[in-house]
Amino acid sequence: IVARLKSSGLFQTKGFIGGKWIDAYDGKTIEVNNPATGEVIASVACMGEKETQDAISSAYDAFGHWSKLTAVDRSSRLRKWYNLLIEHKEELGQLITLEQGKPLKEAIGEVLYGAGFIEFYAEEAKRIYGDIIPSPLPDRRLFVLKQPVGVVGAITPWNFPFALITRKVGPALACGCTVVVKPSELTPFTALAVAELALRSGIPPGVLNVVMGDAPKIGNYLLESRQVRKITFTGSIAVGKKLMASAAETVKKVSLELGGNAPFIIFDDADLEVALKASVASKFRNSGQTCVCTNRLLVQEGIYDKFITAFSNAVQNLKVGNGFSEGVSQGPLINEAAVQKVESLVQDAISKGAKVVVGGKRHDLGLTFYEPTVISDAKNEMLIARQEIFGPVAPVIRFKTEEEAIQIANDTDSGLAAYLFTNNIQRSWRVSEALEYGMVGVNEGIYSSEGAPFGGVKQSGLGREGSKYGLDEYLEIKCICMGNM
Ligand code: ADP
Repeated sequence: IVARLKSSGLFQTKGFIGGKWIDAYDGKTIEVNNPATGEVIASVACMGEKETQDAISSAYDAFGHWSKLTAVDRSSRLRKWYNLLIEHKEELGQLITLEQGKPLKEAIGEVLYGAGFIEFYAEEAKRIYGDIIPSPLPDRRLFVLKQPVGVVGAITPWNFPFALITRKVGPALACGCTVVVKPSELTPFTALAVAELALRSGIPPGVLNVVMGDAPKIGNYLLESRQVRKITFTGSIAVGKKLMASAAETVKKVSLELGGNAPFIIFDDADLEVALKASVASKFRNSGQTCVCTNRLLVQEGIYDKFITAFSNAVQNLKVGNGFSEGVSQGPLINEAAVQKVESLVQDAISKGAKVVVGGKRHDLGLTFYEPTVISDAKNEMLIARQEIFGPVAPVIRFKTEEEAIQIANDTDSGLAAYLFTNNIQRSWRVSEALEYGMVGVNEGIYSSEGAPFGGVKQSGLGREGSKYGLDEYLEIKCICMGNM
């Protein structure tokens, strides 16, 4: 695969600064592993402050030109980029599976989903309207102009190596911003291929830059720089808090997509088949490694036993293996630390009275494979219901009343996605309103699309990505008052 991708120019191992492929200035590299085999895929440039500084300068210089192009011009370049991403969906999908581990079908799905943001914002670029406001005084006129914030630093994680970049870069470029992306060191190849295709689509040098290596150093430099006006981050709550604190020094705009602790609530009056299908999809997508994955299932007592039986049967049939193998729906976890976290959460739950119904241990395949797991008699006090599991483990909690379900669901510092299953219209509205979450799926377990605002409340983050609202994160509002008319 690597040889084939190399010959097509999509396999890059250097950083991308000012439209050029650049080695780390001190020649340092880091190895990137395939989590499904434990083998080294290749080494990539390991960059730090100096390279970041140059990437910021490139982005700053390019901003002058890019922000002054007409929206129609920016739009057509983004559209070309979108077309190239779609044209190369197979190769991009292979890169994702190679470095991240998710099944190829899911990886190609990520490319389609992620490319959707480039297409959507190519269109929205042309619809960034201002306002004219009625003036309180007869000789004045008030206008509102929307302008790009400037250079953006985008720090992204490994679980969606493609889509979490396009979800940030799409709206940023549409608004006229330029970007320095720092992808996860665990999954840099997808990001570099995305940059290569940007270059081919006529996105000018410096508009998009990619640096990777020493994450804290690169992060610090992006935050300290007065030329960077905005930080957008997807990742852990702990790192997000640090970035937000550091951004205060230069009062940067900040968008954060942090962890979730999604409740999946099934009421007695739900359609069991619908809930069952959705719960498996929502929990086990990407082996549980998405921030909107179900973290806790809350099932009402009337259908609790029936659900556990049906759910366990479905989970037992999930095929674990290398994401390139036919029929596999569960790839490996990203690394050993991820497996150890899952193990310790499962142990804590068992020690506090929960029962393993299916799975509950490392998979026979070894490495970082973990058995798809169902845990019954879970309680919201257990660590497994309080922390983000980020693995293929489904703790199921029993509840009695609607009020109790809402109370359990909201008893967390997170507030990203929540799901509820009921056939009662009034209840679906009531519970949706009561849930302290940024996104609610009603009889639906997969929420995301480029047209829908994605984001959380409480400690799950700030700002929204996708949709028309996603543009606001990259725009400043300027009010112009014309006097003495
Ligand atoms: P995850 O659990 O998804 O790996 P992290 O928050 O650790 O979440 O990582 C998300 C992104 O943040 C990655 O690109 C990682 O390299 C980066 N990162 C981690 N620590 C820091 C830091 N101190 N400063 C800036 N970026 C960081």
